[in-house]
Amino acid sequence: MLGLIEEKNYAIIDDPQAAEIIIVNTCCFIQSAKEQSIDYILEYVEYKNSGSCQLLIVAGCMAERYHQELAAEIPEVDGFLGVGHFDNIVELLTHLEATDDIDQQRKEKKQDEHQYFGDIDKAIIEARRYIRAGTVSTFVRISEGCDHGCTYCVIPKIRGKYRSRRSQEIFNELQVLQEKGIKEIVLIGQDIAPYGCDLDEGFDLPELLKKIATTFDFTWIRMMYLYPEGITDKLLATVKQHPAICQYFDIPLQHLNDTVLKRMGRKMSYAQISELIGKIRKTLPDAVLRTSIITGFPGETADQHNDLIKKIKLLPFDHLGVFKYSQEENTPAAEFEHQITEDEKEQRYNDIMITQQTISHANKQRFIGKTLPVLIEGAEEETYFGRFYGDAPEIDGTVFVDSNDTPLIIGNFYSVKIVNALEYDLIGDIENEFTK
Ligand code: SF4
Repeated sequence: MLGLIEEKNYAIIDDPQAAEIIIVNTCCFIQSAKEQSIDYILEYVEYKNSGSCQLLIVAGCMAERYHQELAAEIPEVDGFLGVGHFDNIVELLTHLEATDDIDQQRKEKKQDEHQYFGDIDKAIIEARRYIRAGTVSTFVRISEGCDHGCTYCVIPKIRGKYRSRRSQEIFNELQVLQEKGIKEIVLIGQDIAPYGCDLDEGFDLPELLKKIATTFDFTWIRMMYLYPEGITDKLLATVKQHPAICQYFDIPLQHLNDTVLKRMGRKMSYAQISELIGKIRKTLPDAVLRTSIITGFPGETADQHNDLIKKIKLLPFDHLGVFKYSQEENTPAAEFEHQITEDEKEQRYNDIMITQQTISHANKQRFIGKTLPVLIEGAEEETYFGRFYGDAPEIDGTVFVDSNDTPLIIGNFYSVKIVNALEYDLIGDIENEFTK
């Protein structure tokens, strides 16, 4: 959307107080995401009174799923763009700006004319990328949608069936990103492991990674997210062969008890998961592993929760995120009996977090004494901070760097000797600028 509107000479600014048009891109896959999206929309509505805002657009998953409800409840929203319609942003803005009396239109309930939704299965929209000055790390979508059908998950109903992005489109975008100085690309999709299965191009995920690693000059190529079933020997061999591909695996497992996994509609048993994790660690001893877990799935007993805790200790992940189960309409699990109370979910959530804190601290000790390339992202007072290959942007930990009074350049890589490890973060001393 930003690429398209920049092309039309709109100035893009970060300050909502000063913005004449505000676009809120929303998420709604669980209750807390919906609440956060609504909080933001309501916050931005206020800028129609206290700021410069004349048009407020709600885009993304929430616009796709709840545009009718939002239009009725928050009439200050001027337009909605569902997930298959990001490319209609300029058309929507042109239409709204040509509308003489937007308030009158709202009163007459004519917002229908400003809603774009449906078409969730269409091919991935191609558009020019907008990159803020100084950006060195960015996401690149390589697939959209999902065919797995986990019983708790509403994502396939919002984002559609699995589609891979054409490889040439990916390469074209990467070329632009490289020219703009991007150093880390994060390949994303709901599940990128089956990449290429629906195309006739001869590229599966390992082939795609190999081509990117050998054609482009990115320091880090990171993958997010991999359904465990799709992690093949070929993928592990490719990661091992190409140093630019981060030895970082984000594998959302959701649970580790077989009964719960089955009721979640997940395809791998604990024994298969355990074998896979063992294989990754054996093939790539330096690999950093992340997973996510859902606690309080309907019918999850205290014994099954305890079994989960036991198995989290047996498969010590470097990073582990926990979500409390969210009862989502139009999903099979929403109708399951024995929904768990919020208090119980909270208790189980805390159990898992406390367990993981100890594991994370212990796992991080293995980096002490090692020299790692660190991407410097900022500084606070005297201390610089950044990430090593085992920290994905926005969700994982931080490496705090003592530069020994040497000024460092934000956005550059430096070799850092790790001297200490906290629960979630590492501490290190600068050695020198890192070159590939
Ligand atoms: S694999 Fe992920 S996106 Fe797909 S249905 Fe399962 S939880 Fe949802």
